[in-house]
Amino acid sequence: MTTTRSGADRNVVIVGAGHAAASFVGLLRQEGHTGEITLLGEELDYPYHRPPLSKKFSEGDLEQWLRPPEFYREQGVTVCLGEQVTEIDRGAAQVVTASGERIGYDVLVLATGSRPRPLPAAGADLAGVGALRTLGDARALRKWIAENRTLAIIGGGYIGLEVAAVVRSAGAEAVVLEREDRVLARVASPELSEILTERHTAQGTVVRTGVGVVELEGAEGHVQRVVLDDGEKIDCTAALVGIGAVPCDELAQACDLERGPTGGVVVDEYARTSDPAILAIGDVTCRRVPGLDGLGRLESIPSATEQARQAVAAVLDTPAPQPETPWFWSDQFDLKLKIAGIVRPGSDIVRRGNPETGRFALFHLRDGIPVAVESANAAPEFMAGKKWIGAGMPVDPTRLADPGIALRDAVR
Ligand SMILES: Cc1cc2nc3c(=O)[nH]c(=O)nc-3n(C[C@H](O)[C@H](O)[C@H](O)COP(=O)(O)OP(=O)(O)OC[C@H]3O[C@@H](n4cnc5c(N)ncnc54)[C@H](O)[C@@H]3O)c2cc1C
Repeated sequence: MTTTRSGADRNVVIVGAGHAAASFVGLLRQEGHTGEITLLGEELDYPYHRPPLSKKFSEGDLEQWLRPPEFYREQGVTVCLGEQVTEIDRGAAQVVTASGERIGYDVLVLATGSRPRPLPAAGADLAGVGALRTLGDARALRKWIAENRTLAIIGGGYIGLEVAAVVRSAGAEAVVLEREDRVLARVASPELSEILTERHTAQGTVVRTGVGVVELEGAEGHVQRVVLDDGEKIDCTAALVGIGAVPCDELAQACDLERGPTGGVVVDEYARTSDPAILAIGDVTCRRVPGLDGLGRLESIPSATEQARQAVAAVLDTPAPQPETPWFWSDQFDLKLKIAGIVRPGSDIVRRGNPETGRFALFHLRDGIPVAVESANAAPEFMAGKKWIGAGMPVDPTRLADPGIALRDAVR
């Protein structure tokens, strides 16, 4: 940090009031920061949990604040909601808001997250077509489901599959349309893709893979069908687009901060960008990730929280925390999935447990060392796998595959 103020006194401005920002603010005060903190968020809501938006749909469950609104007041944090930041003036060390205000900073933290990747197809702007990122999106989706509609889900990623599970549990119809030859092609092993496809199909979801969506057709401005690349038309009463997310890195781009090859603000183990006065945390970043060659982008709560801790260390001039093994979770029907490490082709997969019972773990080994674990309803296997990945601990595949042998006895 280049400011004259010492760590605990620095004037911190945060752009984006989501998960990374709320974690950062809480941790920063907890670690003894006493300087000014200003949190600027374009959404109208206080920071809230996004994971329930694709998992639970009752009114009370959707609105889950990360911190009660009074927390920010008690902690002396100035929160400006509905306030979009439109420019970073690095020379003056100020941000400019849409309402024309200029706010100076000693440390600027970019926590602008990511937004749903738009569907490049005609008709994507019809009524009844939407993505899922915000509370408002989730409320619209819940309405569609309550009206017992047939939901076409474009994209068989985690969000699409979670929503499909909710739709079927509510008794509405779900059709998942995935361009790749399997669901979760980018992030899960073929084994897990197959297990989940079977589970969804058994619950009545239609899962179609290898199909591209080229158009959405409607009547009177409202979606009625999805057109596939072979001309087939799928009837629907609403369509959810879940084809990934792109980082909200325009502010960084406009002020020439270094960005990664596929976007995202490049940061180090202190969440520092190429400007020492600007940090970046959460989905908007691109960084070295344990288990990945080169730079990668993680979009998960554990990653946002880890980077919030790194940014706190940067502000307070304390040592950077140890890098964590990446992990995240997903809930689909009764399956509580937890995944650690980076799933890549070419590993040996050892299965422990039985997918038919709903409790299993797939350990990915390279040269006998776990590099990833995909687990369902198997917390001990997940915990052990995550620990082994972080420590590079070799295991015996035969013993690991035998649920009768304790996990600790599978370590070589
Ligand atoms: C439906 C859904 C389900 C998910 N489920 C899981 C899960 O089960 N497990 C998991 O680990 N992760 C899950 N995630 C991912 C997780 O929610 C994100 O990784 C996390 O929210 C990232 O935090 P963030 O602060 O970087 O971004 P966000 O939480 O998106 O917050 C960024 C905020 O910045 C605001 N902003 C952007 N630009 C500006 C600007 N110029 N000025 C002011 N404000 C701005 C945005 O409007 C937004 O409010 C899920 C995400 C979604 C959408």
